[in-house]
Amino acid sequence: MKQIISACSPLEIAGLLEIKPFQGRQIFRWIHQKRIFDFHCMTDLPLPLRQRLCEEFTATQILPIDTRLSQSTGTKKVLFQLMDGETIESVLIRDQERITLCLSSQAGCALKCAFCATGQAGFRRHLEVHEIIEQALHLLREEDLEGRTPNIVYMGMGEPLRNYDAVMRSIRLLMEKDGLAIGARKITVSTAGEVPQIERFADEDWQVRLSISLHAANNPLRSKLVPINRKYPLERLRNALDLYCSKTNRQITFEWTLLDGVNDSPEHAAELLEYAQGLKAFVNIIPWNPVKGLPFKPAPIKRCEEFRNALIAGGLQATLRQEKGQDIEAACGQLRRIHISR
Ligand code: SAH
Repeated sequence: MKQIISACSPLEIAGLLEIKPFQGRQIFRWIHQKRIFDFHCMTDLPLPLRQRLCEEFTATQILPIDTRLSQSTGTKKVLFQLMDGETIESVLIRDQERITLCLSSQAGCALKCAFCATGQAGFRRHLEVHEIIEQALHLLREEDLEGRTPNIVYMGMGEPLRNYDAVMRSIRLLMEKDGLAIGARKITVSTAGEVPQIERFADEDWQVRLSISLHAANNPLRSKLVPINRKYPLERLRNALDLYCSKTNRQITFEWTLLDGVNDSPEHAAELLEYAQGLKAFVNIIPWNPVKGLPFKPAPIKRCEEFRNALIAGGLQATLRQEKGQDIEAACGQLRRIHISR
């Protein structure tokens, strides 16, 4: 079996092939900056090295099997097949000049959040580092970045803090200066509330952002929507966030998916305001992306705006995220579900 090279740093490539460090960097640049996966095309490498690479190594293993492009927004959603037949999804979102890549960290998810398509099908397995990195490389394959670096959000399938080491390593590779060289502040890890790993994340020596999928600020409701709340209730989560903020002095984001008649009232906004008291926090309000078969409805736009306004009036920064891909099954886990049911 060929060895996968996409999760190796430039130095590791050099070590693996017993070549000079600069050649390791050359190979890394071809794969990460030019997104060229065919070693034959790496024209500045000596021919024997190219041949050896072709025989013994592969630059990518995940296979794009379904790509959907939203005509209205330019959002691109790709379904990938992994070597063992598992499937995962990733999304490229365009917002004026900015490109954001939404990456998966697991095949499936064990957390079973009530409104999420991924959770419905259960957990399959953790992704390997190369399977995380290659999502970004494939998504950017036809993109001319013109010197801009994309944003990265770990908001695809899975709970990134449950696949901690692989996710952290993938971040270091995305930040590699001979690669995509993405600044730490342009990378966001999103969690449903893995408290021990949040505490661990607070000790990482970088500026990578943390986002918490809150969705409710009272325990009975949050335990229904985000069942991991039964294990780590709001008080414990809050302690971890206090620790995180005091250690890192960074702002955190709360994600709040608005469900019609469930978590969208002025009382819910008041609970959130109280919960966020004293935290350096920012709220990202997301209209729910409908998932067939689930007993929810998206909150009407007017209620979304009222919810946002209530937060702002209470002194909490909040934005309402625009819908970017209902026409391409962009909600987390939806494209995969369609394929499985076929
Ligand atoms: N497990 C991690 C990351 C993946 S989910 C987490 O929970 O943060 C990324 C975000 O999308 C979370 O805030 C999640 O609650 C939200 N989400 C999932 N399904 C959604 C849907 N159908 N509509 C809107 N947001 C959804």
